[in-house]
Amino acid sequence: MIPGARLVLLGRQGAGKGTQCARLSRHYVVPHISTGDMLRAAVREGTEFGRKAEEYMHAGELLPDDIMVGIVDERLESDDTRTRGFVLDGFPRTVAQAEALLEITSPRGINVVIDLEVPREVVLARLASRRVCNDCGTNYSVDLPPKYDMVCDVCGGDVVQRDDDTEKAIAQRLALYDRETEPLIEWFQGKGLLDVVDGTGHPDDVTDRLVRTIDRRREP
Ligand code: ADP
Ligand code: ZN
Repeated sequence: MIPGARLVLLGRQGAGKGTQCARLSRHYVVPHISTGDMLRAAVREGTEFGRKAEEYMHAGELLPDDIMVGIVDERLESDDTRTRGFVLDGFPRTVAQAEALLEITSPRGINVVIDLEVPREVVLARLASRRVCNDCGTNYSVDLPPKYDMVCDVCGGDVVQRDDDTEKAIAQRLALYDRETEPLIEWFQGKGLLDVVDGTGHPDDVTDRLVRTIDRRREP
């Protein structure tokens, strides 16, 4: 395996995107850039920006494109992403963000954008049982909890239900995905960058499918 890859994962909330991005980040030895985790970190730090971000997140709304593009642009400027690559999780979420991403990453561009496909019913059930580490953002669920009593396996942090995982906020985020982010699938298809991967079944099988798809795209 040759390290390095420039990847984007799309998928509805609850498709297992976060978990799979973390695995791909280890597999290809590239940073996992999750805009949701970055925003939650800012909220925890209690900065003025964090407080502003929290308002949007609580309301189940997207942050403005220019703010998100600025954050991701800055992160993609750093040495680790420039030399090894990245796996982007939660960005882009709108066509304007996608356009900005292709500009930021040019001329090298990205290897592939993957739509991790999971039926809506499966997604709803997963979201209700989702739990997340307060400190490092590792995802768990009621069915696949940490080894010890809701203490994170990775960092020892508290594993909790995200406070934006309320029923109302979930419904709103799914509707938002359909309206703002789903159109990206066709948009990236038009650029010849999109592959669809089945996100159902055991997480290990999903990772295998992802790696096979990605390696096909990374071949010289
Ligand atoms: P989810 O797991 O619900 O898909 P994330 O953890 O990726 O959500 O992000 C949580 C929230 O942070 C989103 O609901 C949104 O308010 C905000 N957010 C994250 N990424 C973006 C983005 N690329 N553009 C706008 N808002 C974003
Ligand atoms: Zn943790």
